[in-house]
Amino acid sequence: MTIFAPKLSFKEYIMATNRTFTMLKPDAIENGHMGKIIDMIIGAGFEIKAMKYTRLSEDQAKKFYEVHSERPFYGELVEYMTSGPIVAAILEKENAVADFRALIGATDPAEAAEGTIRKAYAESKGRNAVHGSDSDENAEIEGKFHFAANEIF
Ligand code: UDP
Ligand code: MG
Repeated sequence: MTIFAPKLSFKEYIMATNRTFTMLKPDAIENGHMGKIIDMIIGAGFEIKAMKYTRLSEDQAKKFYEVHSERPFYGELVEYMTSGPIVAAILEKENAVADFRALIGATDPAEAAEGTIRKAYAESKGRNAVHGSDSDENAEIEGKFHFAANEIF
């Protein structure tokens, strides 16, 4: 029996398929929903492996949402995501990416299911309270984007 689990390498930590990445977006913080959203996340069985209260620079927001750079809402999205503080976090749970997408609900709160975070707290399709990675690959990229190895547990 081993008393201490062997330490995982940074790559192993961040690549684990049971992890996802989230941001509580500026509208969620501004509207005072930070605590309630974190409570919903923990209540749904996600463990917090990394977390920080921070603000994205314009460069960071542009890079994070680069995949949407050709979309008409890109400029507005970057402006909104840099408009105030966010909470960035790495979460762990079995089937993390899919389960977290289910917990946050559809991009547009008008289409989000009852009981989801976006249904409860999003203002609109743009200002939609929370981000969730859409694949294991992106969870890895996004987690690395926001956290150094020694900030991940
Ligand atoms: N977004 C927007 N208008 C749209 C679609 C998306 O402002 O028509 C914003 C919204 O904040 C969304 C983000 O861009 O969360 C990323 O879009 P995506 O389609 O990846 O939605 P998500 O994965 O966040 O549900
Ligand atoms: Mg997305």
